[in-house]
Amino acid sequence: MSGGVVYTVEEREQDARNRPAATRTVSPPAAKASKPSRVAAQIAARRVAIDTILLRRAQAVEAGNENLFLADVDPANKKLRAEQKILFANLVEIGFSEIGYSQAEERFNPAVVRAHGSTTYLVRVLMRYQIPKIDFTPVTTELGYTFVDRAGRWVLTDDNDLDSDLGPGAHREVWDLGRIELQRGPRVLVAVEKGDTKRGRAIVTAATEGLNEVTAYWPRRWNGSVFIIALDETDVRDARFADEDIESAASTGSTFSSLPGQDTADGTVAGGYIVINPNERDRVDEILLSHEITHVATADLGGYEPLWLAEGAAEYVSWKGIEAISGPAEVAKWEQEVIDDAMPQLTSLPSDAGFYQNSADVYGVSWLAVRYLVQRIGLDKVEDLYEDMAMNGTDQASRDRILLSRSGLTEATLWTSLATYTPQR
Ligand SMILES: [Zn+2]
Repeated sequence: MSGGVVYTVEEREQDARNRPAATRTVSPPAAKASKPSRVAAQIAARRVAIDTILLRRAQAVEAGNENLFLADVDPANKKLRAEQKILFANLVEIGFSEIGYSQAEERFNPAVVRAHGSTTYLVRVLMRYQIPKIDFTPVTTELGYTFVDRAGRWVLTDDNDLDSDLGPGAHREVWDLGRIELQRGPRVLVAVEKGDTKRGRAIVTAATEGLNEVTAYWPRRWNGSVFIIALDETDVRDARFADEDIESAASTGSTFSSLPGQDTADGTVAGGYIVINPNERDRVDEILLSHEITHVATADLGGYEPLWLAEGAAEYVSWKGIEAISGPAEVAKWEQEVIDDAMPQLTSLPSDAGFYQNSADVYGVSWLAVRYLVQRIGLDKVEDLYEDMAMNGTDQASRDRILLSRSGLTEATLWTSLATYTPQR
């Protein structure tokens, strides 16, 4: 039902290490001994010129001024100009309360220089923005922009030269992928393809019901709004429905107030957006969405909880919704199937590594673990446990300490308890 909800510590560290892969960070070119000041002055002037362009683009979005947005886009690149018009329209439609771009570091790639000439300036750019009601704080995403000097004037000539070297989901934000349309509810924002209005409205309705279920069945008071992206695209943000998330109907991916590798290896998680698998868009309902919204409603805690707890809690909420509709018999039947069929396929709680690739029903077992904990210590204490894990479960020792102190169990004794568990009916 979900993939990529928690970007594990290991993955984050790996990404931080791997970030400059095919291209590398460069210090200013080794200046010829006789002209160090001239080279430095050129670099400083370029920095100011690019900063000015980036500022102008942000101001253009705020002012809804398309001409200003296109003013620094290479007139010779018609394809880029057409794409930038769509980008601009999308950005204006989102209605950011804050938007800004800043230069990170220059990247060097000989192929890009060959393609664009000797003045090529390839730079990683941080886009910092806040969507009203959706983002509690400004969040950051990254881009790679290629600028060239045309007769003394810098212009943006490409926006995807760096894509393969950026973090997961970069330049695959909802506004980067073709013209969108937004539908809104009081605490719901839905993005669909332009003209896909009926679907957008139906998802607003389903999400509103899903949000009500999360409010009813998960004790954390969360007042946020939910952003759901349902495009005809397999790769949106860090969701990859053509590839690793192929079985998932939806995925909740993190937003970051500080990107992994920016200030810390892990980055700082700010929240999450839901992305729907394009092949499942016709089957979106409040049951599916209540699972994903549980992830969103816990995302800003930090994201360090183990996957069995994250997915177990999300399944717990969505099965409470099923129980409310279908009665307890349906749930009891499912619980027995997990005990009889899924539990024997595992020898311990499913670990984060390989969780989404596991062929056993790790969602069912995770759900059973959370149901067991709810019976043992009560839902409010499970929620406290979740918060503590999400904020502080940065390594296995911390997770063990938190689980033991709050439930009296270790992961090993929780597992053996599950293996001998007889459900209360
Ligand atoms: Zn999930």
